Amino acid sequence: MATSLEDLPIRDDLRGQSPYGAPQKHVRVQLNVNENTHPVPEDVAEDIVASIRQALATVNRYPDREFTELRRSLTAYLNGGLTADQQLTPEQLWAANGSNEVLQQLLQAFGGPGRSVLGFPPTYSMHSILAAGTGTRWIPAQRDDEFRIAPETVVAAIAEHRPDIVFLCGPNNPTGTPLDIETIRAAYDATDGIVMVDEAYAEFMPADAPSAITLLPGRPRLVVSRTMSKAFAFAGARVGYLAADPAVVDALRLVRLPYHLSALTQAAAIAALRHAPAMLAMVDDIKRQRDRMVTELGAMGYRTYETWSNFVLFGGVADPNAAFEALLEQDVIVRDLGIPNHLRVSAGTEEETTAFLEAMRRVAAVQP
Ligand code: PMP
Repeated sequence: MATSLEDLPIRDDLRGQSPYGAPQKHVRVQLNVNENTHPVPEDVAEDIVASIRQALATVNRYPDREFTELRRSLTAYLNGGLTADQQLTPEQLWAANGSNEVLQQLLQAFGGPGRSVLGFPPTYSMHSILAAGTGTRWIPAQRDDEFRIAPETVVAAIAEHRPDIVFLCGPNNPTGTPLDIETIRAAYDATDGIVMVDEAYAEFMPADAPSAITLLPGRPRLVVSRTMSKAFAFAGARVGYLAADPAVVDALRLVRLPYHLSALTQAAAIAALRHAPAMLAMVDDIKRQRDRMVTELGAMGYRTYETWSNFVLFGGVADPNAAFEALLEQDVIVRDLGIPNHLRVSAGTEEETTAFLEAMRRVAAVQP
């Protein structure tokens, strides 16, 4: 008989856990993992390839362990959206292979056995999975109506649970819900621990909505994570980063693997950041398709929520599993996250969005 995972001397606290499980299927319209469905522009791709070619010349050597130039590029990118008194320095930036790895390093440094992290489900599923992997106790707290978190709600949950780390996600995945800047301020003042704001979808927020990064001055326990996977259309390259006090970055140096960011990744990311406006050119179009989904799903009778991200959560689905399968039969994949009567769909190109909405109309006709 084949060996099962349960037969192995695996850590007790990992027994019975499930891995991250978004299905990877080859479907014509893939709207299930909040990717940017627009490819990198051809001229930018050529410049990235040229940079990787150059990096290959010295790939016999280990890469810059401090990814100095990448941190400078990320700093310049973020500073473009900040006022003079909010400007960051490269010492405040840190990067890894996707923001998942950044979050894991944060939990390795500030969580771990005997420590806890407070989160507000439904939220990004990796937050609790990373807690489990690092032996950090995951404490789920309740959200308010419409999946929001009021300042009083976060303060009450912190007072009740006294966590070492607070994870907030703004805009929140899978709900799209905005995260009020007042809620972040209140969380910071209510705890002596780390407050981590996951801003993977920051570039899809309204232009006048402040990022948690604007709160960094004077708040050394605040950490803001970002990614190049979404707005930057760079999910396959695996580049995530955070901004925080330089002392937080020092803490991450204690747990990172040496040379964790390959020379090729660094070269690709630096080149992509050189073309930030071109890489981000599709953001407005994605927001338009997202808003179209909200309007048209609403007109079909589904319940939608305010979304500041590149996806839409919709409720009123009688049988989400059946609807998921019916969409799949029409070559459209969305996400069933196990929220009763809800599905989540990522905004696509105009054609993909149209294909999804047409498929949904056929689903609605048989499953109102
Ligand atoms: N945070 C949130 C809220 C996400 O939705 C995702 C990806 N789905 C990530 C972090 C991780 O992204 P990556 O590792 O690609 O940077």
